[in-house]
Amino acid sequence: MAANDLAVTAFVVRRVTTGESDLVLSLLTRERGKIDVYARAGRKSRRRFQAGLSPCLLFQGMIAPSRRGSSRPGSLWSLEEMIVARPAAVLTSRPSRMVVGQYATELVREFCPPEVPEPELFQHLDDFFVRLDQPRSPSWRDWFAFEWSVLTAAGVAPELRACVLCRRPSPGRRPSPGNLPGSREPSGAYGEPSGGSRGRSAAGPSWGFSEAAGGLVCPSCGQSPAMPVWNPAWNDILDGTGSGPEPEDTPALLALLEPWIFQVLNRKLYARGLCRSIFSSSTEW
Ligand SMILES: [Zn+2]
Repeated sequence: MAANDLAVTAFVVRRVTTGESDLVLSLLTRERGKIDVYARAGRKSRRRFQAGLSPCLLFQGMIAPSRRGSSRPGSLWSLEEMIVARPAAVLTSRPSRMVVGQYATELVREFCPPEVPEPELFQHLDDFFVRLDQPRSPSWRDWFAFEWSVLTAAGVAPELRACVLCRRPSPGRRPSPGNLPGSREPSGAYGEPSGGSRGRSAAGPSWGFSEAAGGLVCPSCGQSPAMPVWNPAWNDILDGTGSGPEPEDTPALLALLEPWIFQVLNRKLYARGLCRSIFSSSTEW
């Protein structure tokens, strides 16, 4: 190991073939954030580069400045070797899970600037891969938890806990710190009644979600019929406290986030639509 070599824990977040057998990769590393590396004979040498440098796998790698002495930000590193740090037999053997894993990779990659360590985003991606590798099929709740944690870590989560305009807590939510696990108030105690999965009760006007405003808008602040309706049953999922069955329209919560994500990224991630159909599957996947 030369003086400038650096050990990294990394995911492959982009992979481009070049020349006969070389690869240019973007790695998301725990230590240095997102970096570009050149892997000479990356498609050939299975001894130096394990598991085909596949996405969704946790690797340990060794990188070196591509020109000795030049390690300024933005320069291409040379990838000396990459070995699998944690096998993921279930995840990598199931195409549907790989599709979801690659969407997750793309989402996190888009939020990571070059060469800035993002340990929190790295960790959320790592946790989600661990979940995708468990035998039990991932649920909508798992998907939401992942996206929500990524948006929060990136500082671009919409306001879903109160009206963006007047700060009134959203329906079914206590006015102040609260919302601890197990502290569910009786239905209707705060805000509008929350009645389980069909919480958008006729008893009061519903709250809406506005991309333009940056989150929830209460009826008094001008919630319009054109806005998607906020279901109070989603509070549990938002707080990560729900342990019972998912509200039946949890998929609608994920649909709510889609235009938001595309807006903050300023681009569309096509794999998100694929994920929606995979999560809709009624069989194990
Ligand atoms: Zn309001």
